Amino acid sequence: EIRLADALERVKPSATIAVTTKAAELKSAGHDVIGLGAGEPDFDTPDNIKEAAIRAIREGKTKYTPADGLPELKQAICGKFLRENGLTYKPSQVHVAPGGKPVIYNALVATLNPGDEVIVPAPYWVSYPEMVLMAGGEPVIAPCGPNTQYKLTPDALEAAITPRTRWIILNSPSNPTGAAYTKAELRGLADVLLRHPQVWILTDDMYEHLVYDGFEYWTIAQVEPALYDRTLTMNGVSKAYAMTGWRIGYAAGPEKLIKAMGKVISQTTSNPSSISQYAAIEALNGPQDFLEPRRKVYQERRDMVVAGLNKCEGLHCPTPEGAFYVYPSCAGVIGKTAPSGKVIENDEDFATELLETEKVAVVFGAAFGMSPAFRVSYATSTEALTQALIRIERFCAALK
Ligand code: PLP
Repeated sequence: EIRLADALERVKPSATIAVTTKAAELKSAGHDVIGLGAGEPDFDTPDNIKEAAIRAIREGKTKYTPADGLPELKQAICGKFLRENGLTYKPSQVHVAPGGKPVIYNALVATLNPGDEVIVPAPYWVSYPEMVLMAGGEPVIAPCGPNTQYKLTPDALEAAITPRTRWIILNSPSNPTGAAYTKAELRGLADVLLRHPQVWILTDDMYEHLVYDGFEYWTIAQVEPALYDRTLTMNGVSKAYAMTGWRIGYAAGPEKLIKAMGKVISQTTSNPSSISQYAAIEALNGPQDFLEPRRKVYQERRDMVVAGLNKCEGLHCPTPEGAFYVYPSCAGVIGKTAPSGKVIENDEDFATELLETEKVAVVFGAAFGMSPAFRVSYATSTEALTQALIRIERFCAALK
């Protein structure tokens, strides 16, 4: 029998991918399933971006590139950071990898030693604690409940820091809650971080472009320039540009860190697809006008989903600032009995019964480290969302 790595023993498979797979299985077995599990835009990649990729293929730009990205793409990324975030980076401060996920992983592998701690505010994106574990570190979960709109407060940050803390991972807007930090809230966290020079900041800004109601987006190195030298500002084209399958993520930070990450990528995946890199150059340098109408559609869907969920007996759904997720509490249904006869003891039971009874797939809150709640992705058609809300309301009303 195969012997597996001890480090992997501690790691959980991705619950979001598991739910998406289960929903797809039910669908292919002929069930009318509505999947609200996947964190993927339903929009298509814009045509100018696709054309740039086709051009790259025709022109034979199909060879290896530098492992951590083409110089032209790094230049485009520097342009993006300056234009949108007021942050000045040189191409030598930029790392490109096959998606945002490996960017984070490369940063952790490049910096963590056994016993090093990484603060992960909960609810968290499922991959953060697992990637920390795979890189040999210790995730330190900082719970951020509905009372603070699922956001880390300066006091909670201060309490989580120890002499072994190497990183704090910030994610605004957040997957899974949609919560985004205001400039003032980031200021409060920055003041704490200024007092702890051993702590580096990994900010995952993947959902930057998806903010609503005129929310003003800020990233921490912009709020506090004194943190620039220990911040890795991470982003990618997957969500904003509807390019999840192209696999391009990037980050910028201090040269020494970027160089170490370059070493990791050069001995593992090597460069992301050259074709995708040319597409990403077009995404960042090309017209940005399609972002606004898409943002408006997401905002309308968010409003519809929040209103619909708040009509359901036993659910309570806050209105988040961004991303394409909401994170309703299902505390009011715990202890009730589902039509199948099963007593709903936790959020995983709720999600399982909802999928089996009404064929609506959501991801249970325990996967994100905060229960009882669940994540709904509204990156899906308005018609599907309307139907899903009818089913969720019917399911909740049927609980006894
Ligand atoms: N960071 C967050 C918060 C995400 O939600 C995701 C995708 O789900 C990623 C990073 C990874 O994105 P990519 O698909 O580019 O690896």
